[in-house]
Amino acid sequence: MARTNALLAAAFSSILLAGSSWAGEDRPISFDGSKGSVIEPAAPAPAPSPGELESQGAHYWVVIEAQDRAARNAAADAGLSLEEFAAGKVGGTINAQGVRNLRSKGIKIIKQVDLDSFGPEQFPKPDEAYHDYKEVLAELDGIVASAPGVASRVKMGSSLNGLELAGLRFNTTASGSRKSSKPGIVFLGTHHAREHLSTETPLLLAKWIADNRAKPEVASLLATRDIWFFPLVNPDGAEFDHASGKYKMHRKNMRKNDNGTTGVDLNRNYGFGWGGGGASTDPGSDTYRGPSAFSEPESQAVKRFAEAHPNLKILLSYHTFSELILYPWGHLDEDISDARALAAYKAMAAKMAGWTGYTPQKSSDLYIASGDTCDWAWGERGIFAFTFELTPSSMWGGGFYPGAGVIASTVEKNIRPALYLIDLADDPYRAATQSVAAQAVPSTPSVARTQ
Ligand SMILES: [Zn+2]
Repeated sequence: MARTNALLAAAFSSILLAGSSWAGEDRPISFDGSKGSVIEPAAPAPAPSPGELESQGAHYWVVIEAQDRAARNAAADAGLSLEEFAAGKVGGTINAQGVRNLRSKGIKIIKQVDLDSFGPEQFPKPDEAYHDYKEVLAELDGIVASAPGVASRVKMGSSLNGLELAGLRFNTTASGSRKSSKPGIVFLGTHHAREHLSTETPLLLAKWIADNRAKPEVASLLATRDIWFFPLVNPDGAEFDHASGKYKMHRKNMRKNDNGTTGVDLNRNYGFGWGGGGASTDPGSDTYRGPSAFSEPESQAVKRFAEAHPNLKILLSYHTFSELILYPWGHLDEDISDARALAAYKAMAAKMAGWTGYTPQKSSDLYIASGDTCDWAWGERGIFAFTFELTPSSMWGGGFYPGAGVIASTVEKNIRPALYLIDLADDPYRAATQSVAAQAVPSTPSVARTQ
C-alpha cells in the first residue's frame, strides 16, 4: 500500500493554507478555491444528503478557535477528533452534524475543508514503503524466522471482518501463548485506521530488536522480559483507508452502525470511564464511542489479552499525529491519585520527550477524552500506559499521511524510548528514583525495510 504524501502535504500547504497562520505567524490566508473548499465561518454547514448518510456522511477538516482547555473540551464533546494543536487553535476531523454542534456551541470555525472535495490527483501516489495488512503478516513472519528461540508469532484475536490481530512476542523461555512470569510490556499500533505510521513504528521497532538481539544491552532485556508487539489493532479500517488507491481519511473500525454510517472509534470504546466527555454518541462522528463499552472485537481483544497476561506492567499505544507523549488520565481533569505512580509517569514521559522531541503531558491537559486504551489499562489493570502521537507535528506537515520519508527517522527516535520502557517493565516506579540502563543504549538503528 503505502503512499508518499508529498502530494497531500503540498495540497494542504499550497492550496489550502498558503501563507496561513497555523505556524503561529499572523499572515493572511490565500486559497485557490478551484481545488478545495474552505468555508468561511459564517457559511452554514451543508446538510448531508441521504446518499451521504448511507456512507460516512460529509466529512471535514476544521480548524477552530480554542483558547483554553475548556474550549477544547467543548469541541471534543461536539464530535471533533482533536488532532493538531497550536496557540489558540485546534484542528481535527468532524462530520456535518458535528459542525452544527460546533456552531450551536458558539465555537468559531476558522477553516473548514471538505475532505470529499479532494480529487485523486491531490492524494498521495502509492509507494511500497508502508505495510498493508498482508505485508504486516509477512514482515512479522520474517522477523520471527530471523530470530529463532527469541521471537514467536502470536494472535490477539480477530477483527470485525475476520482479519487476524497479529503480533510478535519476544520471550526466550515462553513462545506463543505460553505463560511467562517475566515482566511484560506491550506495544500497540493503529487503533485509528488512517494513522498508518503507527503501524510502521511498532513493526519496525520489533524488527530492530530482532536484528540487534546480540547487542549486550538488547540481549539482557530479551533474556529477562516478556515483550509483545501488535502493530495493527484495526486492520479492517486501515485496509479500507488505503485499498481504493485514494486515502479515505478513515479513523474508526468498519462496524456498520444502525443509521447507515460506518465505524466505532476504538480509542473511545474501552470500558474505564466509557460514556464520559470527549466521545460522541453520534454514530457518524469520528469519535463515536460505540453502543456500549467494549462493543467491538478489536477493543475486546486488547482487553482479553491484558487480562490473560497479569505480568504486563507497561503499555504503549502508538497514534499519529502531533508529536506528543500522553499519560492518564484522559477522562478526568484530576491527576491519578497514586502520587508515586504519578512521579514515575512524569519521569518516564520527560525522559522519552528528551529523546524524541515530543511534548509530554497528562492527556486531559489537552482535552477530555473518555474510553481510551490508556485510561482502561491504568484504571482497570494498573498497567503504566502511554499514548504516543507520532510525527508530524501538523496537518500541513503531512498530517495522517506524512509519506515514506518519515518512517526511518520516526522509528529511530523511538528505539531508545522503547528499550527504556522494556527495561522499566520490572518496576516502572523506579523511573522516578533510579537511572535506567537502557538510557545508555546508543541508537544505531538500521530500519530499512527488507521486503
Ligand atoms: Zn489516533
